[in-house]
Amino acid sequence: MPSSSAYDVIVIGAGHNGLTAAAYLGGAGLSTLVLERREVVGGCCVTEEIAAGCRASTTSYIASMLRPEVIRDLDLAAHGLRMVPCDPALQVPFPDGQVVPWWADRERTVAELRKISPRDAQTFTRVDDELKKLARYLQPFFLEPPPEVELDGLQSWWRLLQLGRRFRGITNQELARLISFLTGSLGDFLDRNYESEKVKTLFLANNVYGKHGGPYDPGTALGLLFHLLSGGEHELQGFYGHVIGGMGAITLALAAAARKRGVEIRTSAPAARIDVRGGRVKAVVLEDGTELAAHAVLSSADPKRTFLGLVDSKDLPSDFRQAVQGIKMNGPCAKVNLVLAEEPRVTGMPTGASPAQRSLFTLVPSLEFAEIPQELWVDCVVASNVDKTLAPKGRHIMTCFVQFVPYFLRQGTWDENRELLGDRVISKIGEYAPNVPGAVVARQILTPLDLERIYGLTEGNIFHGDLTLEQLFFMRPVPGWSQYRTPIAGLYLCGAGAHPGGGVTGAPGHNAAFQFLRDRRRGFRAANA
Ligand SMILES: Cc1cc2nc3c(=O)[nH]c(=O)nc-3n(C[C@H](O)[C@H](O)[C@H](O)COP(=O)(O)OP(=O)(O)OC[C@H]3O[C@@H](n4cnc5c(N)ncnc54)[C@H](O)[C@@H]3O)c2cc1C
Repeated sequence: MPSSSAYDVIVIGAGHNGLTAAAYLGGAGLSTLVLERREVVGGCCVTEEIAAGCRASTTSYIASMLRPEVIRDLDLAAHGLRMVPCDPALQVPFPDGQVVPWWADRERTVAELRKISPRDAQTFTRVDDELKKLARYLQPFFLEPPPEVELDGLQSWWRLLQLGRRFRGITNQELARLISFLTGSLGDFLDRNYESEKVKTLFLANNVYGKHGGPYDPGTALGLLFHLLSGGEHELQGFYGHVIGGMGAITLALAAAARKRGVEIRTSAPAARIDVRGGRVKAVVLEDGTELAAHAVLSSADPKRTFLGLVDSKDLPSDFRQAVQGIKMNGPCAKVNLVLAEEPRVTGMPTGASPAQRSLFTLVPSLEFAEIPQELWVDCVVASNVDKTLAPKGRHIMTCFVQFVPYFLRQGTWDENRELLGDRVISKIGEYAPNVPGAVVARQILTPLDLERIYGLTEGNIFHGDLTLEQLFFMRPVPGWSQYRTPIAGLYLCGAGAHPGGGVTGAPGHNAAFQFLRDRRRGFRAANA
């Protein structure tokens, strides 16, 4: 592409959503350029060297919701993507030495639960059937823009009809259950259905990721359904996958698929500004001053970075800017990635467990403790147990996702407290796997501030904005602008800040690309339409 002529589209950010959008746009024959501020592609879906010869999924670490449609459409398997189901999908060691796994095979899980509470084991089958059925109603909403509440006239009736079709066959009782899942709390749901604290803790380990607040907060029950959307190549409900080569294999496959479709990708190319003239996108200006003309821009940077950082305030209505300023971020997560000289030996892990079965465990506070934000929650994945490509012989890779740690510290700075966090996490793991503290060869500690500095996540928020009820569906990123369009003609949001939100799904990237293509076909000017 000669620098004097305009690209059809510039995509800002080579995270998995930016790359997904670019691949679809390239596939539609549009000249497409992706700009990434970091020296590598991947965003929060990346594999990086954390010590000589040792690689880890430095941020996201399990693939559970990557849309099967994206995997198929972009032929990611042909570009090297291989996922191995996590089985168990989840495993919780308890202080009394019992380790409770959640197997892919439901009957096997029921047998585990029976050892704890026969009543809860019986309830599990009924609840699982119900949850899976309700999740299937939500599934189609993932790969399309959310319902537009602001439409009027015929359009609104047409939309209502479409919505009605989605729920054809739903009983009144199911509808009531669905609404209670959308608005209710995980804690109340668990208290209503289960008697054993251990069984409740198992559910808790699987939910309430990435946000402050506890399991009794309204809207937290929704996580139960999100996790039961189908994922992986074979569209399994509740799929959890290890990605061979680490999560970066997903974005490398996406980048390869995009390049195959003619997309150009530039790394170490931070966008400084989106130029707008007459209410329409004109160009992207890089930090080094290079100006790149474009007919449209899709930004996968989070909404605050995009609208408050890249766009001049005079180009946006003040109420829109205010709404963006009000998006709740304040990420509660950190990551500690370890190279170990020995595999962790978790107390109580069955002696016959295979390396793959020993590859994950979650240290989770009980329901009451989960209400106290200071209590560390650590989700550990021994990725090298399933993937020998990550480390040389004799070295083991364990990634540890940590919450609830605030971006805003009451005292001191994260630069002062980084090592303390690392020490606390390792000591917490040592309570359950006593050989770990003595086996640490190298460690990488990513505080919420590091997630912001390195990966570009405002306030370290892993989802580009909290996944709370008031920031989901037609309220995401802000009410009135859930259709990926923005008040600036030709500017679209295509990252996790848009519907359906965060996680490695590819859905916002897919949906934004198709929205843009539809608008383009209609010759539609997004602003003032
Ligand atoms: C620690 C952590 C653990 C997680 N664990 C999981 C998990 O196990 N499973 C899961 O499904 N999800 C997980 N997530 C969430 C998930 O990774 C993210 O929600 C998702 O990857 C966001 O994808 P994205 O493409 O929308 O944005 P990002 O991955 O954030 O990509 C945006 C890209 O834009 C770039 N960018 C920003 N500004 C500019 C600019 N001005 N110019 C050029 N480029 C720019 C950034 O550098 C970045 O590469 C985790 C996230 C984190 C941080």
